[in-house]
Amino acid sequence: MSSPKVAQVVVNRPLRGANQVFTYTVPEALQEKVAPGVRVTVPFGRQTATGFVIGIGGEPVPGLKLKEIVGVLDEEPPVPPALLELARWVASRYVCTLREALIAVYGPAGHGGKQKPDQAFWFRGEAAEVLQELERLRAPVQARALSLIAAQPGITRRALLREGIGAKAIAALVRKGLVTTEAVPVWREPYRDVAAGKEGPPVLSLEQQAAFQEIRTAVSAQQHQVFLLHGVTGSGKTEVYLQAAAAALEAGRQVIVLVPEIALAHQMVLQFKARFGSQVAITHSALGAGERRDEWERVRSGEANIVLGARSAVFAPVTRLGLVVVDEEHEPAYKQEQAPRYHAREVAIARAAFEGAPVVLGSATPALESYAQLLSGHYRELKLSCRVDGRRLPVVRVVDLREEFRAGTVSLLSNLLIDRIREKLRQQEQVLLFLNRRGFAAFVLCPACGNVIRCPNCDIALTYHRPETLLCHYCYYRMRYEARCPRCGNTNVGRYGAGTQRVEEEARALFPGARVARMDAETTTRRGSHAAILDAFKAGAIDILIGTQMVAKGLDIPGVTLVGVVNADTTLLLPDFRAAERTFQLLYQVAGRAGRGDLPGEVIIQSHCPEHYAVRLSALQDFSAFARRELALRQRFGYPPYTFMIRVVFSGPAGDKVARGAEEFGILAKAAAGKEMTVLGPAPCPFGRLKGFYRWHIILKGKRGQVVRDACREVLRQFTSRRFAGVRIAIDAAPQSML
Ligand code: ADP
Ligand code: ZN
Repeated sequence: MSSPKVAQVVVNRPLRGANQVFTYTVPEALQEKVAPGVRVTVPFGRQTATGFVIGIGGEPVPGLKLKEIVGVLDEEPPVPPALLELARWVASRYVCTLREALIAVYGPAGHGGKQKPDQAFWFRGEAAEVLQELERLRAPVQARALSLIAAQPGITRRALLREGIGAKAIAALVRKGLVTTEAVPVWREPYRDVAAGKEGPPVLSLEQQAAFQEIRTAVSAQQHQVFLLHGVTGSGKTEVYLQAAAAALEAGRQVIVLVPEIALAHQMVLQFKARFGSQVAITHSALGAGERRDEWERVRSGEANIVLGARSAVFAPVTRLGLVVVDEEHEPAYKQEQAPRYHAREVAIARAAFEGAPVVLGSATPALESYAQLLSGHYRELKLSCRVDGRRLPVVRVVDLREEFRAGTVSLLSNLLIDRIREKLRQQEQVLLFLNRRGFAAFVLCPACGNVIRCPNCDIALTYHRPETLLCHYCYYRMRYEARCPRCGNTNVGRYGAGTQRVEEEARALFPGARVARMDAETTTRRGSHAAILDAFKAGAIDILIGTQMVAKGLDIPGVTLVGVVNADTTLLLPDFRAAERTFQLLYQVAGRAGRGDLPGEVIIQSHCPEHYAVRLSALQDFSAFARRELALRQRFGYPPYTFMIRVVFSGPAGDKVARGAEEFGILAKAAAGKEMTVLGPAPCPFGRLKGFYRWHIILKGKRGQVVRDACREVLRQFTSRRFAGVRIAIDAAPQSML
């Protein structure tokens, strides 16, 4: 007679610090069904809870009374066994609980019954009307809901609920006709008509061919290897992904393709659908849970062999993984900023290593983490150094804004930029002006007493917007602008630093005949306005388009021959160790928008620090010089990728409590530190207050990741969070920003 089996179960309850894995016996009747990966119901305390079976076997310990599994939720495991191993890796790498990791890994497969599709909301009026409507609304929750909807067009009901907006407030806005709503569209719809195989693949360029062959060799050998497809903008990286995916399918394998944001990957989705048709499953957070699960099921059953999606697609339940592609691998969107705070590029590589598959990381400006791996020989570089069809990279010039100031220029646009715009207008070519800040003026300062007008909820200067409004770009707090300083009464406070509104105003004044438009979070609040502006620009109905980073990515408009960066310094001066890297990437990408058609492109970058290497080297389009320089600095000052870093953020509505929590954690961390770990802080975060929450952080650093992670986990265990009710702790073991 067989002895009763036991199973290891991770109970689906938030249990901070406590043991996560419990052993249960498997009753005779359920022995057939209980397998690693299935979800079960178990008695837990006095209640019943669901749980994930992560292991089977072992003998019950004599004398220890185990409880019994009471039910099984899945006929067969919703995820392949390899993903359980990946969940353990995620929990260990990102210092989160196994439960948090499992929830991420199960994704849509972990949800119970069918959920209703979500709803999305849009503001009904013009952008300029938002503020008036907000003034009129007397109900504070409705006002907050409206500002969220205006700030994030298409925001879903679920996202609003997460922000603490009740269903009643949403219903009131709909009733008042202030917002329009729609069930979230089924993502598959727009692509259903894209017939597969209509267009054969083009003949690869020599460089593409060389890259493709190396990838294909690794795909056929089912050999794990990381390739860095380092190709300048317009060099045809996508075509390499497509043919590599085809090779994997031919070998009977499956493919995961990750993109930073599915909304910006429209072009790529079309190309994959056109080539592979219904073989492609798209995963998208705006899909209703039902549709998402259907796509997941198509993948699990092997009906779809290519999964294309944003970061969570890295957990797609494929069983025959043959290739993973991470497009624009340097993009910050690959980082998940809620627990588990994972980085999809890292998870992709870990998964591919477990499952013996090659990885292709694609970028024109690789992340320094990836580039360092290449320099140390761990990754293999595949280079695409010219644009397909031989178009030249644009000519880039840098204008020193300090000289403009000395020469008495009062305009935001330098004489050179103005001259070049005139010339382009004369030739009926198009101009793109980029500035990474919306609004009219960056901040309002009283020259008499030095007072900067700040948001009462956030430790951030309010931005001046036309007409006569001060706005917080974090929480959307707003107030009327007055020329009188609230602190000292001086009556001519100044407005400093420019935003897109001011660029637009100047452009209209300088070029009276030109058709000028602006694209930023304010002008795209209405459903479809984003696409409408781009279509108009493409059709040649706009001469000068002014925009924030919304226009920097992926825009491919052949008529644009001049790109002007109004101020390169907005990201450069942030107190963050990635400021130079982000600035370089942004400038390089913006410059890549020029000269995509037959006419050569031209770029003018304006800066107060033109000698800064991020500005200088982006103008030369010299990535490797930038990377070498920046990596040397990172090494010298002990930043990633040379130092492993965990950022622990404490936040809460009571500032003193948050500070005391951080302090206690800091004391424990310093006691645990030893020789191999350094503890920095606690200190207030650079943005010390956001949306009413005070924020402090502590940085744990060390050469060896495992040492720092173990110490962090131990400190977390000792930390008596009970004494700090109302203080949230976020462990970020792959910080992308220190703000
Ligand atoms: P990247 O992603 O490297 O910036 P894209 O993948 O957008 O570049 O490619 C730029 C353009 O070149 C696209 O319109 C693409 O269809 C085209 N293209 C890519 N490879 C080839 C090829 N071998 N022959 C002809 N056209 C190509
Ligand atoms: Zn604010």
